[in-house]
Amino acid sequence: MGILDWISQSAKKLKDVESQISTEAGDVYEVYQRNVVLEREIAQRTEELRLANQTLLTLEQVWDMMNSSRPLSSVLETIVSSLYGEFGYIYSFIAQKQYDEAGTCYALQTYLENDFSIKLADIVGSTIYDFKLFPRKDGVIENAILNKEVGYYISIKDLLEDNIPNIDEQKAQEFSDNYNVKTIIILPITVQNQFQGFLSVFSPRKELKDDELSFLNLFTRQIELAITIANLFETVKKQAVTDHLTNLFNRRFFEDALHREATRSLRTKQPFCLIGLDLDHLKRINDTYGHSMGDKAIATIASVITKTSRSVDIPARYGGEEFFVILPGIDAKGGLIAAERLRTTIEQSIVDGLEEGITASLGVASFIEQTTNIDELFEMCDKAMYCSKQKGRNQVTLADTDNMTSWQDVAIDAFVDILTQHRIPFNRSLATDLIEKLQIKQQDSSGASTQEMLFSIVDSISKSYFPLHPDGSTKNKVSLATIIAKRMGLSKTEVDKLKIAMLLYDIGNTMMPKEIMKKAAPLNTLEKEAIQKHPVVGAREILQPIDSVSNIIPIIEHHHENWDGSGYPNNKKGNEIPVTSQIILIVDSYFAMISYRPYRKAYTIDEAIEEIKTNSNKKYSPELVEAFIYSIDEFKKL
Ligand code: GH3
Ligand code: MG
Repeated sequence: MGILDWISQSAKKLKDVESQISTEAGDVYEVYQRNVVLEREIAQRTEELRLANQTLLTLEQVWDMMNSSRPLSSVLETIVSSLYGEFGYIYSFIAQKQYDEAGTCYALQTYLENDFSIKLADIVGSTIYDFKLFPRKDGVIENAILNKEVGYYISIKDLLEDNIPNIDEQKAQEFSDNYNVKTIIILPITVQNQFQGFLSVFSPRKELKDDELSFLNLFTRQIELAITIANLFETVKKQAVTDHLTNLFNRRFFEDALHREATRSLRTKQPFCLIGLDLDHLKRINDTYGHSMGDKAIATIASVITKTSRSVDIPARYGGEEFFVILPGIDAKGGLIAAERLRTTIEQSIVDGLEEGITASLGVASFIEQTTNIDELFEMCDKAMYCSKQKGRNQVTLADTDNMTSWQDVAIDAFVDILTQHRIPFNRSLATDLIEKLQIKQQDSSGASTQEMLFSIVDSISKSYFPLHPDGSTKNKVSLATIIAKRMGLSKTEVDKLKIAMLLYDIGNTMMPKEIMKKAAPLNTLEKEAIQKHPVVGAREILQPIDSVSNIIPIIEHHHENWDGSGYPNNKKGNEIPVTSQIILIVDSYFAMISYRPYRKAYTIDEAIEEIKTNSNKKYSPELVEAFIYSIDEFKKL
């Protein structure tokens, strides 16, 4: 090959290589470009993930707060401290708007202690726990809040001079020089359109980095979310234990508190006192001035109770116009003084729009001194309150420990008798078991609840004798019946009789043919006739021989009579039927309706209420139906 050929060949090869290089360069460039896009996408996704993680962190913290007693401040501290790592911040805090004698101010809501925060508080002469900012009019913080925008300080000194009146300038300067803070970012915090405070972040840079502001904004939203959820949770928690008309504790909370207080009292040997209070003549106020005036009278009593209570006392609205206050550490003597103070304050109070004054009747009973059983304590207090009514109202009565037979005692005696006298063909092992329970209770003074034990006995009997009709727990039935009875203005004696009757009204069923009681299908006419004997059997055959319950026999015998005379066993009608029997009928029917039967589905609560309304003036008196409708609302809150 000649030299020229070689040259031209080499030139061609060179061209090939060149063109190959340029193609590859194009590829590399493309790959490079693609990588850049990918990288950006990865960065974006990473940021999204980080933000999602951040949100998760907040939610996890909030969740934690709800499931433990962690206060909001500790959740906010965790959120704020997770800020530090991100952009190398020197310090950060959340301040909450408050009102002080000196005007609007901002107190710290997060107390992260470090060298910076301790010194910062120190130069203004406080600790970080009572460090407060009083923003100057037209200053950075004021403007940030007013304009709902981010505010900036360029030095700590500026921040201090703007917000701490009479700050020692030299100290502020020294502190400012000591730390490399170049910008302090102020981000307003708004919860449900209400301005709450601000987040402040101390940064070592003059300028914000890319995305830094959006990151901080997002952070602020996390804080707002945590506060919103905490507020909502607080409201829900409060609603669950308080009564909405009076803001006092509700009955459920009161009953739990009474148990807790009794346990503590027995452990520490410290007494506590129970004051019971019932508004006098509320019915008259309702009838003369209308129901809303009655409500106002109730609210007035509640505010007197709140004002005269110590912070450790537990004031509760037990029912419509009945209140109780638990006074820890107070004996009978102290309780009487407190009750008398309550009585006079009520007597002197004025209800807006009501021409006459209001008064209340009170009872006082003391735990440990007078009894160590909470049911007995409650009964004694209730009896004392009733005694005040009988003596002419507007007075205080101390519980009487003599002749103290509670309805629970009567019920226990009745059950012991029923179970031991062999009138009923009881399953022996069940009877032995129940008798044992009753005997332990009779000697027990542990403060535990007698009525709970009675309820469980009735539940066991129902389960074993009429297994297809386990209609709501006995406790619920007694509660609802008691609320209705009080609504209807029944006396304490009548309410007590009703409570015992509620435990015994179906006792006749234990003597009914077992095959009928256990039948899953609807009963035929003959079977129905047989079963309709249970009120008479219960009243006459089982309870008649027991002296202590002789006064409830008519109640039980007539608990299936209807208002219009269509019931059984005697076709009694209207006021011939004891009111207590009618209450049993309505409560029993309600729980039967909302329970499942093998031959029909359970009614919803609303359907059951509708059915009861339809039976007004038929099965039940209209007055009873009205009281039932009011009471069911109260019952649902228990
Ligand atoms: P006493 O002095 O004997 O207590 O008479 P009283 O009228 O206050 O009491 P009674 O027990 O005879 O009647 C209570 C009345 O209170 C009947 C009931 O309708 C009414 N009541 C119960 N709860 C409320 C309520 O929340 N608001 C109003 N306005 N009235 C209620
Ligand atoms: Mg009253």
